[in-house]
Amino acid sequence: MGTVIGPAGIPIGCDGSNVDGLKHSIKLGLGAYEVEFVRGVRMSPRMAREMRGIKERNNIKVSCHAPYYINCNNAKNYSMTKRHLHDCLRVNQHLRFTHVVFHPGFLMGMKREQALKNVIATIKRIVKEAREKGYNNFTLGPETVGKHSQVGTVEELITICKECPECRPVIDWGHLNAFSHGGLKTRKDFIKPLELIREELGKKYLKGLHCHFSEIEYGDKGEIKHHLLGSKWGPDFRVLAELIKERGYDFSIICETPLIEEDALRMKKVLTA
Ligand SMILES: [Zn+2]
Repeated sequence: MGTVIGPAGIPIGCDGSNVDGLKHSIKLGLGAYEVEFVRGVRMSPRMAREMRGIKERNNIKVSCHAPYYINCNNAKNYSMTKRHLHDCLRVNQHLRFTHVVFHPGFLMGMKREQALKNVIATIKRIVKEAREKGYNNFTLGPETVGKHSQVGTVEELITICKECPECRPVIDWGHLNAFSHGGLKTRKDFIKPLELIREELGKKYLKGLHCHFSEIEYGDKGEIKHHLLGSKWGPDFRVLAELIKERGYDFSIICETPLIEEDALRMKKVLTA
């Protein structure tokens, strides 16, 4: 079905719930939709089932973004992190997201290696306890992060995915660019993370790869603020679009610029041009 694009949450031009947001996105001709649980998971089983029906009838990919409060490298807050992820998985039982996207955690003053070890141990424990609750058929999507204080470089995500079969890497292109102070410019720069995933995890991990895209302002420590397409902060969507067209990738791209549906439609135009 090729690469599909959609908004990060309820479109700006839609005044309503996630059900309305999903219907609105379909009407606009978009092929993906991300439910934003970033400030907490709120969705009844009834609404989740309704969304599943709409999703399946219209062949649109639906993912969710887990709360920002998750930190898999904070033992003191384990129960909170678990609660947020389990809340997403509870909704997933009714809706079946392609990915439950989350930011793995913060360094908390530790070396990256130690923080990564802790993150992996936490994810494994949360998955085990989820299975004990009967949650099944879920895919967790640890995301590439934009700030140097966070865990989640492409290499770190690959290690997480090797250790946890329930995980699939989520590539936030804006974050990659912000983290590397504008390191994502040429076609080669875009190929690099994809090749790394293919070499280290295998081709199937690129199938249906979940992505976020936004231009993002950055400083010394990485990510500062999301901007519209064409802001000059980069990365340049056209470079990624060329690559996707050439190689026929079937990615899902969630637009996280301040104009979520307008820019999603602009990206779709670039991709189909
Ligand atoms: Zn995110």
